Amino acid sequence: MSLETNTPNPPSVNKSAPATHAFAKTTANQWTVEDSAKIYGINNWGNGYFRINNDGNVAVTPKGAKGNSLDLYELTQELQDRGIRVPIMIRFPDIINERVHLLHRCFQKAIADHSYAGQYRGVYPIKVNQQRHLVQELVKFGRDVNLGLECGSKPELLVVLSLMNSPEGVIICNGFKDVEYIETALLAQKIGREIIIVVDRKDELKLIVDAGKKLNIKPKIGFRAKLNTQGAGKWVDSAGARSKFGLTAMEIVEGVEYLRKLNMLDCLELLHYHIGSQVPSIQSIKSSLREAARFYTELYNLGAKMKYIDVGGGLGVDYDGSGMGDSSVNYSEQEYANDVVSTLQVLCDEKGVPHPNIVTESGRALVAHHSVLVFNVMGVNNLFQQDPPATATKKDPALMQEMQYVFDKLTSENLNECFNDLMQTKTETLNQFTYGVLNLTQRAWCESMFFAIATKMLALAQVTPDCDDIVAELREKLCDTYFCNFSVFQSVPDSWAVGQLFPVMPIHNHKNEPCHEATLADLTCDSDGKIEKFIDTETGEVKKTLRIHPFKEGDAPYFLGVFLTGAYQEILGDLHNLFGDTDAVHISITESGYTVDHYVPGDTVTEVLTYVQFGRAEMVDNVRQFTEESIASGNITKQEAKNLIRHYEEGLSGYTYLEEME
Ligand SMILES: *Cc1c(COP(=O)(O)O)cnc(C)c1O
Repeated sequence: MSLETNTPNPPSVNKSAPATHAFAKTTANQWTVEDSAKIYGINNWGNGYFRINNDGNVAVTPKGAKGNSLDLYELTQELQDRGIRVPIMIRFPDIINERVHLLHRCFQKAIADHSYAGQYRGVYPIKVNQQRHLVQELVKFGRDVNLGLECGSKPELLVVLSLMNSPEGVIICNGFKDVEYIETALLAQKIGREIIIVVDRKDELKLIVDAGKKLNIKPKIGFRAKLNTQGAGKWVDSAGARSKFGLTAMEIVEGVEYLRKLNMLDCLELLHYHIGSQVPSIQSIKSSLREAARFYTELYNLGAKMKYIDVGGGLGVDYDGSGMGDSSVNYSEQEYANDVVSTLQVLCDEKGVPHPNIVTESGRALVAHHSVLVFNVMGVNNLFQQDPPATATKKDPALMQEMQYVFDKLTSENLNECFNDLMQTKTETLNQFTYGVLNLTQRAWCESMFFAIATKMLALAQVTPDCDDIVAELREKLCDTYFCNFSVFQSVPDSWAVGQLFPVMPIHNHKNEPCHEATLADLTCDSDGKIEKFIDTETGEVKKTLRIHPFKEGDAPYFLGVFLTGAYQEILGDLHNLFGDTDAVHISITESGYTVDHYVPGDTVTEVLTYVQFGRAEMVDNVRQFTEESIASGNITKQEAKNLIRHYEEGLSGYTYLEEME
């Protein structure tokens, strides 16, 4: 067998897609922005804050379709013109302002509709996102509705005390507490803060009482109840008898007696519980509320001067727009408020207990929507293959001839049979290569032919009835990997850690059909560093690939956005492979456009390295010494040594992500 006559084409990579494509359901010029909106579900999860504009780009509209709108694609380009680098975390404080007021309005409406006698006090738990500018914005936007803050640790208490200045806003102190935490909280009462210390574990009650005596300050105390009612969804463990925090019924009764003996029962003002985050169903919310309301009325009737019920967090966000499942919610903010208010009203009225003021600790629901991570695609591992490799002849190994035969004879009548043959050839190729029957060139030919057959087969299967399984399998086999300039671990850690779904889509080019299917791989060399869960708006379920536009290296930059990343992701993000914080900007939308309120530069390589105890000076010095040795031995010129040191120092000052060459 001569190699000359027989050289197969190597598998082609980064081929641009032709106008009509096996994945394309319509011819290219029929595609509209509405089609794109539909496949990505943006009008469902976008909540009115995100949509696709007539230019085919994603637009941000904090006040809904009637308010001012900002083109995210143009914004990304203009930020880059200013030297801000992708990946960029773009925050829209206007959306936070909307969220804070939305939740407040919902509770005001529920209170009015039910003639409820208590007041509403929202509290933002800063653990959800502690970035200073963001917490400052929340405090500012929340002043007119008396938004308070919640802290869950000593460092968070210190943050809250430095930022909280609305006199009517409540401060809730949760989490593990030592004497220092408690004394600081008590002393802060003296600067006019309504600060309530919640007993999360039974030992804390005595610490609070003792600290109050020592400082001669009367504490305001809350009890966190361990409810039996479980939440549902991914974070269920926050409630139930074995949950980490909270007092059992017995511990609560003992606590009441302890305070009564000390004549301090009037210090007990608040009952708290938290059934976990992202509660998907209103039924769980209602049943936990009923149990908690009973705790409240019992405490009142035991003689405590109860003022507040704190229903914790858990108000969910509709990440996939489906209205069902763990990544979604089956209720609106208004239904949530109605159910909280009406349940409390009914149970308190039943026992003749005055309606409590209602505290919520919604975090996710206030901040998730406000930030978007925008990053660029760097390259594609493109398996999609139009042209078959050079025709196999009688001289070629049997496997190649078989594959050639399958390719030639494939029709819609023999699809099933050919599909099975094709799957068989995949294993055969590997076996025969391993046992020395196929050489490397022949193996490459077989792989190439596999994709050529699969491509042809997919085009046929899509227009043949009852081939859904084959279509699904072939799409997965033919799906591309898009390599993207971001780190899953740094920017969307919950996507990796708990398999949470986030909306992902291109931020531009929606006048054209996204006719490829792909998974997204990040920059880390961890095989888990990828996104393989996407919204399937057709079925409401999760699918493994994302519809995406064709891309090849050298094309104009192609940008994707991961949306609704404002809650938890930033602070949980880690430095896997030493990818640090991304650049972040705060953008306010104005009548005529926008303003860049804050630019928070991402980590430099030097900054990231200090977390693992590397000092810049010492590193540069080491490399310099190595160059000196090589200059001495004649392996490097002084000029080259200077050049190496310059590159090294620039690298240390640079971004941890991939940068465009200037
Ligand atoms: C995390 C937490 C919250 C916030 O929950 P969300 O679901 O984000 O609203 C509220 N309260 C407590 C005690 C928490 O631990």
